[in-house]
Amino acid sequence: MNEADKRMIRARLTEALENLTSLHSEDAPLSLENFADDADYASQLTAHTMTLALKERDIEKIRRIEKALERIDSPDFGLCRECDAPIGKARLTARPDARLCVTCQHERESGLPACA
Ligand SMILES: [Zn+2]
Repeated sequence: MNEADKRMIRARLTEALENLTSLHSEDAPLSLENFADDADYASQLTAHTMTLALKERDIEKIRRIEKALERIDSPDFGLCRECDAPIGKARLTARPDARLCVTCQHERESGLPACA
């Protein structure tokens, strides 16, 4: 991981962060006063609940991006937490918050121990 790679990843993270925050900056609060009937109320409420769930997922993403931005200057950024192998530029570009290399991630997801 050289400085140019880090700069590129930092730029991508910052951009993603800006997109996510601007996406939610104009959310209108749900107003429960102006519904035609109960069915209207129910459908509005469902839509609102879905928006909230979506928002929670985005907030989680924002947290992970912020963490990655904090870590990007530390010497172990881009190194696998399990095996210390470089995570790889392609993977970090796609998943800047990745903490595991592809091999360890795969082993974790397949339920096998990460260290044989
Ligand atoms: Zn690994």
